[in-house]
Amino acid sequence: MYKNNDQCPICGEGLLKKKIIQETFSYKGNYRTIENYIVYECSDCGESIVDPKTLKETEKIIRDFHREVDGLLTSEEIKKIRNQLGYTQNDFSRILGGGIKSFTRYENGTVTQSKSMDNLLRIIQKYPDTLDVLTKTDQKSIKIEPIRRKTVLETGSGVGKAEIDTGEAGSGGIINFDNSDKRNNSGTSQKYKYVDAA
Ligand SMILES: [Zn+2]
Repeated sequence: MYKNNDQCPICGEGLLKKKIIQETFSYKGNYRTIENYIVYECSDCGESIVDPKTLKETEKIIRDFHREVDGLLTSEEIKKIRNQLGYTQNDFSRILGGGIKSFTRYENGTVTQSKSMDNLLRIIQKYPDTLDVLTKTDQKSIKIEPIRRKTVLETGSGVGKAEIDTGEAGSGGIINFDNSDKRNNSGTSQKYKYVDAA
């Protein structure tokens, strides 16, 4: 934190003087003016150093300004949705993704949510029940086996053979039953859906 008469860290010669100015920022042809923008101006080299507290506050204002221009939810709107649904920042980060502290960062204005996260938030705000889908998935420990199992069953009677592609374990799959055997001239191929009991 700087104060009046600190030595200028840029030139090392002059002394800093606190000034409160208005600073205007532009983004995609839009403008936002911030009042009470605190800078420390050097008496010698004329450089202005932005007050760290002002810089931090400005980051959030500017990020919300960009969000508005880009049609994204602002930090306050995100917070409102989360509070309406009754979750903590950490819970929301865990359930909805985006990283371990994602909602802390979206709300304090250090990170902008992706368009897909923004869409997800709008959907769960309008249809809160859809959040159940995610919270249930979140609670279940999903075991994914990386090896794709493939079993060929010979019927033995020459009628045909069934090929079972189980896909990933627990995901269910399709049985392709090929009965285009000579004894059956229809040459049809049928598919049977099954659900893996695992
Ligand atoms: Zn200076």
